[in-house]
Amino acid sequence: MSETAAPYVVTLGTAGGPRWWRYQGQPVRAGIATAVVVGGAVYLVDCGYGAGRQLVQAGFGLHDVAAIFLTHLHSDHVVDLTSIALFSTFENTDDGREPIALIGPGDRGVLPPTSPHAAQRPQPVAAHGPTPGTAETLARIVEAHATDLNERILDSLRPSPLEVIRARDIVLPEGLGFEANENPVPEMAPFVVYEDSRVRVSAILVEHPPMAPAFGYRFDTEGGSVVISGDTAFTPNMIALAEGADLLLHEAIDLEWLMSKFADPTESSARATRSHHERSHTSIADALAVARSAGVGRLALHHLVPGTSADSLKRQLADAPGPRAIVPDDLDVLPLRRR
Ligand SMILES: [Zn+2]
Ligand SMILES: [Zn+2]
Repeated sequence: MSETAAPYVVTLGTAGGPRWWRYQGQPVRAGIATAVVVGGAVYLVDCGYGAGRQLVQAGFGLHDVAAIFLTHLHSDHVVDLTSIALFSTFENTDDGREPIALIGPGDRGVLPPTSPHAAQRPQPVAAHGPTPGTAETLARIVEAHATDLNERILDSLRPSPLEVIRARDIVLPEGLGFEANENPVPEMAPFVVYEDSRVRVSAILVEHPPMAPAFGYRFDTEGGSVVISGDTAFTPNMIALAEGADLLLHEAIDLEWLMSKFADPTESSARATRSHHERSHTSIADALAVARSAGVGRLALHHLVPGTSADSLKRQLADAPGPRAIVPDDLDVLPLRRR
């Protein structure tokens, strides 16, 4: 890749949800992961199912990755961090290079409340530390694979993933009053979480209850800007983050599908699932409203739920008022600025 080429996005994976979606023989979309490519360097946002493989399919390797950003710690955004971390010890063959920065939410601090639909209180896992943040999550991934890694380190003389990937929890600006359960999305301005010679990356809290903190990210480069919503319900913070951006990748839930899939009002798990999606994700109409209010150049919908055909989404978009939105497939290339 040319270092002088205009920046662009590769939609590595476009499916949302902790599932392998399948539908009538259609190809399985990879889990949510997006590469922002600036001056030949890759900035990876989220590590959904297949992210490492998709990165390679797109013509890159881990040696091209300058930084990885996690929007939040749901498994559909993090599951391939494991393969990326474990394979990094072999993939990252340039011993002299800077570690890859891994940046994401800190420890939630408190467990979420139990669903009102619960018949009895479920038992959480990992009672000694039930809400680890980004750095602790990477540390535990490494620890879980100690048998493998210690062999690589001692016998093959490879570096630990913790030397190749340097994790850092996002520290929120002071005075916000953030509290994971009581005040997860205070209105705020975007704040810078990463900067190098090619890009300045800002974050803002978004609304994805009960997951908190959850972030959207904005990449500003000399060749344009792109905003990635992460998972969120409609929030004014997204409009603030996306203000005047060239390209907005926003999540969208197909509410028609949700209603048909989880229709049974007597089934507590169906009710809990539907309620989660309605509180925590954005309808097509609201994604369009965010793009309109923020005056973004172009809108692309991703993190597709269901992560199969986009036909229903495209049909609903055709009937919706502007702006026009596209629904990319896996491995589509979207320039930040229209040429
Ligand atoms: Zn998700
Ligand atoms: Zn999520």
